[in-house]
Amino acid sequence: MPFTSLKAIKGRLPTKDRLQRWNITTDTNCVLCDNSTETHHHLFFKCNYSNQIATKCFQMYGGQLRDNNMNQLLDYLVSQWHAKYMEPDKDSSVFTALIWWIWKERNFRLFQSKSRSIEEVSKLIHHDAEVKLKSR
Ligand SMILES: [Zn+2]
Repeated sequence: MPFTSLKAIKGRLPTKDRLQRWNITTDTNCVLCDNSTETHHHLFFKCNYSNQIATKCFQMYGGQLRDNNMNQLLDYLVSQWHAKYMEPDKDSSVFTALIWWIWKERNFRLFQSKSRSIEEVSKLIHHDAEVKLKSR
């Protein structure tokens, strides 16, 4: 699994709450939803923007997220891996692309003051996952 995804899962990415603790920034607002403090947990599991993208990705499997919750997506993927219903490569490539593009979009907004829509980011994730699957 790529470095960013591993760091994301372990909560090691330099999110704003951590930067504030290190006195690097005083701004802790989430750039994706502009509605909460940017913590690791918020960014990947609670943020409305991230969860809408996760829901779209989840729908690629024909699944449905009840509460638009990324924890559910993660639980679902892990259960599928354990049950061996799906190819692990397919699940992990979608999940990896999801984490990667959420972090990339966050940096895009933070450092370049530009933004992409949920549709656009979902397409990028889908494309990335497809490319990865085809190159196996
Ligand atoms: Zn947010």
